[in-house]
Amino acid sequence: MDLYEFQAKDLFAKHGVPVLPGAVAQTPALAEEAAAALGGPVVVKAQVKTGGRGKAGGVKPAPDPAAAHDRAGDILGMDIKGHTVHRVLVLAAADIAAEYYVSFLLDRTRRTFLAMASVHGGMEIEEVAATHPDALVRVPVDPLAGLTREAALGIAAAFPQPERVADVLLRLWAAFVAEDATLVEVNPLARTASGEIVALDGKVTLDDNARFRHPDHAALDDSAAADPVEARARERGLNYVKLDGGVGVIGNGAGLVMSTLDVVAHAGERFGGARPANFLDIGGGASAEVMADGLDIVLADPDVRSVLVNVFGGITACDAVADGIVRAFALLAERGEPVGKPVVVRLDGNNAVRGRDILRTAALPGVRLVDTMDEAASLAASLAS
Ligand code: GDP
Ligand code: MN
Repeated sequence: MDLYEFQAKDLFAKHGVPVLPGAVAQTPALAEEAAAALGGPVVVKAQVKTGGRGKAGGVKPAPDPAAAHDRAGDILGMDIKGHTVHRVLVLAAADIAAEYYVSFLLDRTRRTFLAMASVHGGMEIEEVAATHPDALVRVPVDPLAGLTREAALGIAAAFPQPERVADVLLRLWAAFVAEDATLVEVNPLARTASGEIVALDGKVTLDDNARFRHPDHAALDDSAAADPVEARARERGLNYVKLDGGVGVIGNGAGLVMSTLDVVAHAGERFGGARPANFLDIGGGASAEVMADGLDIVLADPDVRSVLVNVFGGITACDAVADGIVRAFALLAERGEPVGKPVVVRLDGNNAVRGRDILRTAALPGVRLVDTMDEAASLAASLAS
């Protein structure tokens, strides 16, 4: 899970990484209030989970509260790389003398952690990394030994104030470890005119696999607001990802579902570019209930125009899947939301014959049985187009 800058900085502050005071605002009036409370000049910053906000015009200085009001008005509602700005962070402005770059990340290729640092931080860091790779220090950090003070001083050796920067690096590393992050990045880490070192920006990615260790991280998750269908799926423990097409897809096993997406997209080329609407893996041992939940979730997506259920019975026998489909139809009818969209079903493998018999007997409205994956994908794509 990626965090917003204001959330990243809350974590930084918790671990002693120096940040400047600020407040989040959702309206220009609240931004003005926040600026007045801070007193003095502020910077108004778009809160979106993407980089390059500065270059996109999403970071603006405001000398007084009235200006903060206007800058917030400019920035709220802006689209930055496909992300709409719903909130701004109003921060006490720093008087910047130098912009540095520091980060810790999980280096999957080298199977270790990596510290990166540069005295040439700021908005051109990608450019610096590409054209002057030696200006970016890269030091592996042993996960068991952690970051020692000595190592931190080594990373900070090229900085004008190595002790101060090393101190920030140690605190940042503590945050990285304690919060189970896979990335903490500060760009810029600024030296102010008065010689303070302070994190002016923050980017944090938390390791979702460690979520069970951090009940407090649940409060940082706003994906529910972003996609209600994904939130509903998560509540029910389903592995669902929203995509942009119109063919709902349900399958068992991540590999089968992934290839089903490909086959649907391929078939869709012949039918007006129909594409998969989602990824949904009901798992290897899915029960009838899970199938019912899955259908319910996929049909709740207003973009879905047809559904493809592609199941290869293994541990999940096809008759259980068929039962699930029948039960889902009954359940939705009971709720007054009868299935009004065509559902193409391909059942193969364990108990396929019995599963198909169940569906044939049930004669559910809109359900069509197809024997092969290719034909099923074609039919679903044509129905969606
Ligand atoms: P990003 O473009 O999304 O990475 O957003 P940043 O938070 O890094 O801000 C972009 C740039 O705005 C920084 O590199 C700074 O040059 C500038 N900036 C941000 N905060 C301040 C501040 O408090 N004072 C000054 N003078 N500049 C700032
Ligand atoms: Mn930045």
